[in-house]
Amino acid sequence: MSHTLTVQWTIEPQTAPRPWLACSRCGGQRPFVCSGKARLNANGRRLDAWLIYRCAVCEDTWNRPIFERRTVTSVAPDALAALQSNDPAWIRQVAFDIEGLRQCTDRIEDLADSNVERRVLSGTVDSARLEIVVVAHHASSLRVDRLLSVELALSRARLTKLETAGRITLLPESRKALQRPIRDGSRIVLDLTAEDDRAEIAQRARGGP
Ligand SMILES: [Zn+2]
Repeated sequence: MSHTLTVQWTIEPQTAPRPWLACSRCGGQRPFVCSGKARLNANGRRLDAWLIYRCAVCEDTWNRPIFERRTVTSVAPDALAALQSNDPAWIRQVAFDIEGLRQCTDRIEDLADSNVERRVLSGTVDSARLEIVVVAHHASSLRVDRLLSVELALSRARLTKLETAGRITLLPESRKALQRPIRDGSRIVLDLTAEDDRAEIAQRARGGP
């Protein structure tokens, strides 16, 4: 039996975080949905850029500032080109910038629906130890327990039991590992020695047939 199955999970969130804002048209706090479109506006010699959101209820627009009153030369050329062409990859990067969004509102809904792409780095499914290397290009509020329960089909109760037994570790070392949001570069280590279905768990971790 080889020692450790090491897999890399690349986590790609599907839905951009939704800021909750007061909607002036339909009234009250509403979630706003990213439209996937940006707008660049020249005001004299100054440029403004926004990412456009729509109220989930009435579709009224909210313009999230990307930058304001900037001279052409102070804007990074790739950002300028991306804005001029409405480049989807660049816009996606801004839409998923949850830290940037926090400057506009305290209330952000992160739907935590993610695709997980799996890749085996080393080891086989009969390993007693599972190590998951997390690759996450966007900050997310997706928690370790939710990720593991969905992707490994383990109940929250079972995960809590494993953690209490000291069989789940988050590296860099962190207390209350299960409650932490996932971070790029972190490693989740599971000791499956005592689990009868460890081969099934390992199979789900590595994916494929
Ligand atoms: Zn509205």
